[in-house]
Amino acid sequence: MAVVDHKKADATQESLHRIFTVPEAPESTLGRIEKEISENLNAFLQTHIAAREKPLAEIEKDFSSADIPERPSFVSEHTHFLLDKLVAQSVHTSAPTFIGHMTSALPYFLMPLSKIMIGLNQNLVKIETSKAFTPLERQVLGMLHNLIYHEEDAFYQQWMHSANHSLGAFCSGGTIANITALWVARNSALKPDGEFKGVAQEGLFKAMKHYGYEDLVVLVSERGHYSLKKATDVLGLGRDCLIPIKTDSHNRVCVNEMRAKLDELRQKNIKAFAIVGVAGTTETGNIDPLEDLADLAQEYGCHFHVDAAWGGATLMSNTYRSLLKGIERADSVTIDAHKQLYVPMGAGMVIFKNPALMTAIEHHAEYILRKGSKDLGSHTLEGSRSGMAMLLYASLNIISRPGYEMLINTSIEKAQYFASLINEHPDFELISEPELCLLTYRYAPARTQDALRLADPEQREELLAALDDMTKFIQKRQRESGKSFVSRTRITPEAWDRRLTTVFRVVLANPLTTEQILKGVLEEQQEIAKQSLISFPKINTLTESILNQQVAL
Ligand SMILES: *Cc1c(COP(=O)(O)O)cnc(C)c1O
Repeated sequence: MAVVDHKKADATQESLHRIFTVPEAPESTLGRIEKEISENLNAFLQTHIAAREKPLAEIEKDFSSADIPERPSFVSEHTHFLLDKLVAQSVHTSAPTFIGHMTSALPYFLMPLSKIMIGLNQNLVKIETSKAFTPLERQVLGMLHNLIYHEEDAFYQQWMHSANHSLGAFCSGGTIANITALWVARNSALKPDGEFKGVAQEGLFKAMKHYGYEDLVVLVSERGHYSLKKATDVLGLGRDCLIPIKTDSHNRVCVNEMRAKLDELRQKNIKAFAIVGVAGTTETGNIDPLEDLADLAQEYGCHFHVDAAWGGATLMSNTYRSLLKGIERADSVTIDAHKQLYVPMGAGMVIFKNPALMTAIEHHAEYILRKGSKDLGSHTLEGSRSGMAMLLYASLNIISRPGYEMLINTSIEKAQYFASLINEHPDFELISEPELCLLTYRYAPARTQDALRLADPEQREELLAALDDMTKFIQKRQRESGKSFVSRTRITPEAWDRRLTTVFRVVLANPLTTEQILKGVLEEQQEIAKQSLISFPKINTLTESILNQQVAL
């Protein structure tokens, strides 16, 4: 019983032909949106993202049908649906008051350039479908290699475009980059040897028998990113084979602990085939002592990988690049361009010091990726890949190294400024001092801070737990009210006997975030706190009873 709905489009050969050949008219819905976005993206997002959050369960109702439509929609009609239900309930990650994410505002030029990228729709897996994009991507990898390792010009002339070598891999993000690095490290550790054709060919089981290891592990600080666990999992080692090493009061790995662990493993005939240094932890932005880790890796014969997904861009700054000293001794380095290099999501890289290292994962196929071809796909985990490298290439040219330096320096100095605001404020406590542009802090009224110093262990724990709840509450309330956003995490600060503590986490990478905004964020938090102390009376009662008890003594 067909009910004819005149408002619906029809799936006809003509209409299909139309969507492939006729552009959206300037006065059409999408045409108008395009214009608005190119003229003022921020205004567009301000207008279309709803000020108040809808509960997720409500949003899910708009996305609840599993039916693929039997009838097509008109573009304009569907666009309205997307604006209403999707855009309105998305997150304004580029807002200068949203200082809790690692994604920030993007330069405008990237939008039309992305359109060129999508329009060309190149596939970087092989030259046949990417042509000049392949040399461009190889050049980008060379530029990043140069940023880390500073080889002579002749080095890059020799290796950048060499068919059987690769200075690294461009990929969708830090996770794939880390997996690729450890994949190369694993295959190098279990390489072909005599009759044994290598782990890549014969698998882990036979490799372990051949080499006679009891187990295979990777060492990283307890602040290491969770993607490393995924890596040991997909590499067939299991998540337990990522061994966390204690950190010091600045969230940096304790080198002595790592050395002790390496000795212990050696005695047990367990092969630590890689150690990972973190250059910018995701939670606090601290950097491991890379020079010392490089020494350890050399001494114990491990692959040395540096996860600089977040902090790698600091190398652009002549002022701050020394924070990453020792990174030039890493065998491989992960850098995310979609974090502090300000390109859109989907741009990660792993760079290898030695251009021959990636042969450990080289893969050939007859119909593509023939031996001796310059196809990038023979050294990447991913298959089909977009021309994303073009956006990074354009940014490196348009912004330039000194431009990036200004962005990086400004971010770090902004974090230092925010840290001083927190330190001067009687009701907030800085938890982690910013090394890069990340810091953590929490709300704790001045009198409660006094009480904490006097409390016995039991009272102290009770008070700290109440402060945890409060921090959580403030963060949630602030997010829901939609004006500004900081994130929240739980860390184990040494200063508080490694007690798991809830803290605000702030990332100051958005160049449009002003000092005024930062003051506003603290004011808003204090306002929420004042109101909520009524619903959290415990903090005040406990505080007062501890302080009175002291007076009485
Ligand atoms: C972000 C991040 C990753 C993961 O990168 P994705 O791009 O999210 O896959 C890995 N390590 C560190 C230190 C990071 O900050």
